[in-house]
Amino acid sequence: MHSDIEKILVSQEEIEEKCRELGELLAEEYKDKFPLAIGVLKGALPFMSDIVRHMDTYLEMDFMDVSSYGGGTSSSGEVKIEKDLNTKVEGRDLLIVEDIIDSGLTLSYLVDLFKYRKAKSIKVVTLLDKPEGRTVNIEADVVGFKVPNEFVVGYGLDYQEKYRNLPYIGVLKPHVYSGE
Ligand code: 5GP
Ligand code: MG
Ligand code: MG
Repeated sequence: MHSDIEKILVSQEEIEEKCRELGELLAEEYKDKFPLAIGVLKGALPFMSDIVRHMDTYLEMDFMDVSSYGGGTSSSGEVKIEKDLNTKVEGRDLLIVEDIIDSGLTLSYLVDLFKYRKAKSIKVVTLLDKPEGRTVNIEADVVGFKVPNEFVVGYGLDYQEKYRNLPYIGVLKPHVYSGE
C-alpha cells in the first residue's frame, strides 16, 4: 500500500471482479446495438479500459474532459468543457462512463448536453457513487460501489493530479492535505 494512504475502501480484487460483472451486464444490454462509450477524463480512464474488455460486443469509444473541481477536494459548482468529443452523438446510444458521482453536477451537465445534441439513448455507468454528496437529483443507471462521504483517491481518482495510478480506492492520510 502507498505510504500516503490511510485505508483502502475498495481493493484491487473487488474492482477487478466488479469490472467483469458490469462489463458483462452492459454487453448484454447493448448486444444488438453499436453504442458510443464516452469516458469522462481523466478519472474514468482505468475503469473504462477495464469494463470495455469485458464487453464482447461492438462499441465505439470517445473521451470528454470536463472540470468541476479545480485542485481542491470540494466542488466549485461550475462545469467547463476542457476537451469535447470527436464523434457526433445524434441518433447514437450513449454510455457515459464516470469514475464517481458526488454532487451530480457534472453528470447532469453531460446528460443535458447530450440530450440537446439529440442522442438516441443515454445510460450512465459509474464505478463509485457518493449518494450523500448529491445536490442535483440524478442517478447513474449502473453503479459499481457506494462510498461514504469521504474524499477518495486511486484507480483514476486524483488529489492534485496524484494517485490516479493506484490499483485500489483509498483515503489519504490527513497530513497529505495539510502538506506536512
Ligand atoms: P460531481 O460533479 O458529481 O460533484 O463530481 C464529479 C467529479 O468530481 C468526479 O468525476 C471527480 O473527478 C470529482 N470527485 C468527486 N468526488 C471525489 C472524490 O471523493 N475524490 C476525487 N479524487 N474526486 C472526486
Ligand atoms: Mg469524473
Ligand atoms: Mg480531480
